[in-house]
Amino acid sequence: MLFEGPEPGTLVQYFKDDASAFNNQKRGIITGKGVLNNRISEFLMTRLAEIGIPTHFMRRLNMREQLVREVEIIPIGVVVRNLAAGSLSTRLGIPEGTLLPRSIIEYYLKKDELGDPLVTEEHITAFSWASTHDLDEIVQIALRVNDFLSGLFLGVNLRLVDFKLEFGRLYTEDDLRIVIADEISPENCRLWDTRTNEKMDKDRFRQDLGKVEEAYQEVARRLGILPESGPADLKGPRTLQ
Ligand code: C5P
Repeated sequence: MLFEGPEPGTLVQYFKDDASAFNNQKRGIITGKGVLNNRISEFLMTRLAEIGIPTHFMRRLNMREQLVREVEIIPIGVVVRNLAAGSLSTRLGIPEGTLLPRSIIEYYLKKDELGDPLVTEEHITAFSWASTHDLDEIVQIALRVNDFLSGLFLGVNLRLVDFKLEFGRLYTEDDLRIVIADEISPENCRLWDTRTNEKMDKDRFRQDLGKVEEAYQEVARRLGILPESGPADLKGPRTLQ
Protein backbone atom coordinates (compact mmCIF):
# COMPACT_ATOMS: atom_id res chain seq x y z
CA MET A 1 0.00 0.00 0.00
CA LEU A 2 1.40 3.41 -0.99
CA PHE A 3 0.67 6.84 0.48
CA GLU A 4 1.84 10.32 -0.38
CA GLY A 5 5.30 10.95 1.07
CA PRO A 6 6.63 13.87 3.11
CA GLU A 7 8.49 15.43 0.18
CA PRO A 8 7.68 15.62 -3.52
CA GLY A 9 8.90 12.56 -5.37
CA THR A 10 8.57 10.31 -2.33
CA LEU A 11 5.95 7.82 -1.21
CA VAL A 12 5.34 5.92 2.01
CA GLN A 13 5.03 2.17 1.52
CA TYR A 14 2.91 0.47 4.20
CA PHE A 15 3.33 -3.25 4.99
CA LYS A 16 0.06 -4.95 5.93
CA ASP A 17 -0.57 -8.33 7.55
CA ASP A 18 -3.28 -9.08 4.99
CA ALA A 19 -2.37 -11.92 2.67
CA SER A 20 -3.88 -12.92 -0.64
CA ALA A 21 -3.06 -15.57 -3.21
CA PHE A 22 -4.32 -17.03 -6.46
CA ASN A 23 -5.39 -13.61 -7.75
CA ASN A 24 -7.25 -12.75 -4.53
CA GLN A 25 -9.25 -16.00 -4.44
CA LYS A 26 -7.56 -16.94 -1.18
CA ARG A 27 -7.38 -14.34 1.57
CA GLY A 28 -6.15 -14.28 5.12
CA ILE A 29 -4.10 -12.51 7.73
CA ILE A 30 -0.58 -13.52 8.68
CA THR A 31 0.03 -11.82 12.03
CA GLY A 32 3.33 -9.96 12.07
CA LYS A 33 3.95 -10.46 8.35
CA GLY A 34 4.02 -6.73 7.57
CA VAL A 35 6.58 -5.96 10.26
CA LEU A 36 8.83 -8.81 9.14
CA ASN A 37 8.58 -8.05 5.42
CA ASN A 38 9.29 -4.37 6.04
CA ARG A 39 12.53 -5.44 7.76
CA ILE A 40 13.48 -8.15 5.29
CA SER A 41 12.82 -5.94 2.27
CA GLU A 42 14.78 -3.07 3.84
CA PHE A 43 17.69 -5.45 4.44
CA LEU A 44 17.70 -6.92 0.93
CA MET A 45 17.18 -3.60 -0.88
CA THR A 46 20.04 -2.09 1.17
CA ARG A 47 22.38 -4.97 0.29
CA LEU A 48 21.44 -4.56 -3.40
CA ALA A 49 22.12 -0.80 -3.28
CA GLU A 50 25.53 -1.57 -1.79
CA ILE A 51 26.50 -3.49 -4.92
CA GLY A 52 25.17 -0.74 -7.18
CA ILE A 53 21.73 -2.10 -8.04
CA PRO A 54 19.28 0.80 -8.01
CA THR A 55 16.04 0.45 -6.02
CA HIS A 56 13.23 2.76 -4.96
CA PHE A 57 14.03 2.19 -1.28
CA MET A 58 15.17 5.24 0.71
CA ARG A 59 14.78 4.33 4.39
CA ARG A 60 12.59 2.51 6.85
CA LEU A 61 10.40 4.91 8.83
CA ASN A 62 8.92 2.62 11.49
CA MET A 63 7.69 -0.94 12.08
CA ARG A 64 5.38 -0.99 9.09
CA GLU A 65 6.42 1.85 6.81
CA GLN A 66 9.29 2.77 4.58
CA LEU A 67 10.05 5.85 2.53
CA VAL A 68 10.51 5.13 -1.17
CA ARG A 69 11.12 7.15 -4.30
CA GLU A 70 8.09 7.75 -6.46
CA VAL A 71 8.60 5.92 -9.75
CA GLU A 72 6.54 5.30 -12.85
CA ILE A 73 5.64 1.64 -12.42
CA ILE A 74 6.27 -0.65 -15.39
CA PRO A 75 3.15 -2.87 -15.49
CA ILE A 76 5.11 -6.13 -15.75
CA GLY A 77 6.01 -8.59 -13.00
CA VAL A 78 9.42 -10.12 -13.74
CA VAL A 79 9.92 -13.64 -12.40
CA VAL A 80 13.34 -15.28 -12.24
CA ARG A 81 13.41 -19.05 -11.69
CA ASN A 82 16.26 -21.35 -10.71
CA LEU A 83 14.29 -24.47 -9.79
CA ALA A 84 10.90 -25.55 -11.11
CA ALA A 85 7.97 -24.70 -8.81
CA GLY A 86 4.57 -23.08 -8.81
CA SER A 87 3.06 -22.07 -12.12
CA LEU A 88 6.05 -23.27 -14.14
CA SER A 89 5.60 -26.80 -12.79
CA THR A 90 1.84 -26.64 -13.37
CA ARG A 91 1.99 -25.11 -16.85
CA LEU A 92 4.81 -27.24 -18.26
CA GLY A 93 4.52 -30.40 -16.14
CA ILE A 94 8.06 -30.10 -14.79
CA PRO A 95 8.25 -31.66 -11.32
CA GLU A 96 8.70 -29.21 -8.46
CA GLY A 97 12.33 -29.01 -7.41
CA THR A 98 13.83 -29.81 -10.82
CA LEU A 99 17.00 -27.78 -11.28
CA LEU A 100 16.49 -25.68 -14.41
CA PRO A 101 19.21 -25.90 -17.08
CA ARG A 102 19.66 -22.16 -16.65
CA SER A 103 17.88 -19.33 -14.89
CA ILE A 104 14.65 -18.52 -16.70
CA ILE A 105 13.03 -15.09 -16.83
CA GLU A 106 9.28 -14.72 -17.34
CA TYR A 107 7.09 -11.66 -17.69
CA TYR A 108 3.56 -11.30 -16.35
CA LEU A 109 1.22 -8.43 -17.16
CA LYS A 110 0.07 -6.83 -13.91
CA LYS A 111 -3.66 -6.85 -14.46
CA ASP A 112 -5.82 -8.31 -11.67
CA GLU A 113 -8.95 -8.71 -13.77
CA LEU A 114 -6.99 -10.94 -16.18
CA GLY A 115 -5.17 -12.85 -13.43
CA ASP A 116 -1.72 -11.46 -14.35
CA PRO A 117 -1.23 -13.42 -17.60
CA LEU A 118 2.16 -14.59 -18.85
CA VAL A 119 3.31 -12.35 -21.72
CA THR A 120 6.27 -12.31 -24.05
CA GLU A 121 8.78 -9.62 -24.95
CA GLU A 122 6.82 -9.19 -28.20
CA HIS A 123 3.66 -8.22 -26.31
CA ILE A 124 5.56 -5.92 -24.00
CA THR A 125 7.25 -3.94 -26.75
CA ALA A 126 4.31 -4.02 -29.21
CA PHE A 127 1.96 -2.56 -26.61
CA SER A 128 4.65 -0.19 -25.30
CA TRP A 129 4.49 -1.45 -21.72
CA ALA A 130 8.27 -1.21 -21.86
CA SER A 131 10.83 -0.54 -24.58
CA THR A 132 13.51 -2.99 -25.72
CA HIS A 133 15.98 -0.73 -23.95
CA ASP A 134 13.96 -0.94 -20.71
CA LEU A 135 13.82 -4.72 -21.09
CA ASP A 136 17.58 -5.01 -21.66
CA GLU A 137 18.14 -3.15 -18.43
CA ILE A 138 15.45 -5.14 -16.60
CA VAL A 139 17.01 -8.47 -17.63
CA GLN A 140 20.47 -7.30 -16.65
CA ILE A 141 19.27 -6.15 -13.22
CA ALA A 142 17.12 -9.26 -12.67
CA LEU A 143 20.04 -11.61 -13.38
CA ARG A 144 22.41 -9.65 -11.13
CA VAL A 145 19.82 -9.72 -8.36
CA ASN A 146 19.40 -13.46 -8.87
CA ASP A 147 23.15 -14.13 -8.60
CA PHE A 148 23.56 -11.89 -5.59
CA LEU A 149 20.49 -13.03 -3.66
CA SER A 150 21.09 -16.72 -4.47
CA GLY A 151 24.51 -16.40 -2.82
CA LEU A 152 23.23 -14.34 0.08
CA PHE A 153 20.46 -16.83 0.88
CA LEU A 154 22.69 -19.86 0.35
CA GLY A 155 24.94 -18.39 3.04
CA VAL A 156 22.07 -18.83 5.50
CA ASN A 157 21.03 -22.25 4.17
CA LEU A 158 18.14 -21.06 2.02
CA ARG A 159 17.75 -21.91 -1.65
CA LEU A 160 16.34 -19.12 -3.79
CA VAL A 161 13.95 -21.16 -5.95
CA ASP A 162 12.34 -18.19 -7.72
CA PHE A 163 11.24 -14.62 -7.10
CA LYS A 164 9.29 -11.78 -8.63
CA LEU A 165 10.55 -8.24 -9.12
CA GLU A 166 8.75 -5.10 -10.10
CA PHE A 167 10.43 -2.20 -11.79
CA GLY A 168 9.81 1.50 -12.20
CA ARG A 169 11.20 4.42 -14.13
CA LEU A 170 12.89 7.02 -11.99
CA TYR A 171 13.16 10.41 -13.63
CA THR A 172 15.91 12.68 -12.41
CA GLU A 173 16.80 16.13 -13.77
CA ASP A 174 18.43 14.88 -16.93
CA ASP A 175 18.31 11.15 -16.59
CA LEU A 176 15.96 8.17 -16.57
CA ARG A 177 16.84 5.05 -14.63
CA ILE A 178 15.13 1.71 -14.27
CA VAL A 179 14.98 0.81 -10.59
CA ILE A 180 13.57 -2.06 -8.53
CA ALA A 181 10.26 -1.16 -6.87
CA ASP A 182 7.76 -2.93 -4.58
CA GLU A 183 9.35 -5.29 -2.03
CA ILE A 184 11.65 -8.30 -1.87
CA SER A 185 10.63 -10.72 0.88
CA PRO A 186 9.25 -14.24 1.45
CA GLU A 187 6.08 -12.75 -0.03
CA ASN A 188 7.50 -12.76 -3.54
CA CYS A 189 10.42 -15.19 -3.25
CA ARG A 190 10.35 -18.97 -2.92
CA LEU A 191 12.90 -19.99 -0.29
CA TRP A 192 13.57 -23.60 0.65
CA ASP A 193 15.76 -24.78 3.51
CA THR A 194 18.84 -26.32 1.87
CA ARG A 195 18.99 -29.18 4.38
CA THR A 196 15.31 -30.14 4.76
CA ASN A 197 13.75 -28.58 1.61
CA GLU A 198 11.16 -27.06 3.93
CA LYS A 199 9.28 -24.15 2.36
CA MET A 200 10.00 -20.88 4.15
CA ASP A 201 7.86 -18.52 2.08
CA LYS A 202 4.34 -17.61 1.02
CA ASP A 203 3.72 -21.12 -0.33
CA ARG A 204 3.08 -22.03 3.33
CA PHE A 205 0.02 -19.77 3.11
CA ARG A 206 -0.91 -20.72 -0.47
CA GLN A 207 -0.76 -24.45 0.31
CA ASP A 208 -2.09 -24.26 3.89
CA LEU A 209 1.12 -25.69 5.31
CA GLY A 210 0.77 -23.73 8.58
CA LYS A 211 3.46 -21.86 10.54
CA VAL A 212 3.56 -19.05 7.99
CA GLU A 213 4.62 -16.33 10.40
CA GLU A 214 7.19 -18.64 11.96
CA ALA A 215 8.74 -19.25 8.55
CA TYR A 216 8.96 -15.52 7.78
CA GLN A 217 10.48 -15.00 11.24
CA GLU A 218 13.03 -17.72 10.63
CA VAL A 219 14.08 -16.08 7.36
CA ALA A 220 14.54 -12.76 9.21
CA ARG A 221 16.42 -14.48 12.02
CA ARG A 222 18.81 -16.21 9.61
CA LEU A 223 19.46 -12.91 7.88
CA GLY A 224 20.42 -11.53 11.30
CA ILE A 225 17.68 -8.93 11.48
CA LEU A 226 15.44 -10.39 14.15
CA PRO A 227 16.22 -10.78 17.83
CA GLU A 228 15.69 -14.31 19.12
CA SER A 229 12.56 -13.37 21.03
CA GLY A 230 10.57 -12.28 17.98
CA PRO A 231 9.22 -9.25 16.19
CA ALA A 232 7.64 -7.78 19.35
CA ASP A 233 11.17 -6.67 20.24
CA LEU A 234 11.57 -4.68 17.05
CA LYS A 235 11.13 -1.19 18.41
CA GLY A 236 12.39 2.07 17.01
CA PRO A 237 14.63 2.68 14.05
CA ARG A 238 17.71 0.80 15.28
CA THR A 239 19.14 -1.65 12.79
CA LEU A 240 19.62 -4.95 14.53
CA GLN A 241 22.34 -6.65 12.57
O1 C5P B 1 3.15 -18.66 -9.04
P1 C5P B 1 4.44 -18.62 -9.77
O2 C5P B 1 5.18 -19.92 -9.78
O3 C5P B 1 4.32 -18.03 -11.16
O4 C5P B 1 5.33 -17.59 -8.94
C1 C5P B 1 6.68 -17.33 -9.27
C2 C5P B 1 7.29 -16.40 -8.23
O5 C5P B 1 6.66 -15.12 -8.31
C3 C5P B 1 7.08 -16.88 -6.79
O6 C5P B 1 8.24 -16.58 -6.03
C4 C5P B 1 5.91 -16.06 -6.29
O7 C5P B 1 6.00 -15.81 -4.92
C5 C5P B 1 6.07 -14.76 -7.09
N1 C5P B 1 4.78 -14.12 -7.39
C6 C5P B 1 4.47 -12.91 -6.80
N2 C5P B 1 3.28 -12.29 -7.10
C7 C5P B 1 2.41 -12.84 -7.95
C8 C5P B 1 2.71 -14.08 -8.55
C9 C5P B 1 3.90 -14.69 -8.24
O8 C5P B 1 5.25 -12.38 -6.02
N3 C5P B 1 1.28 -12.20 -8.22
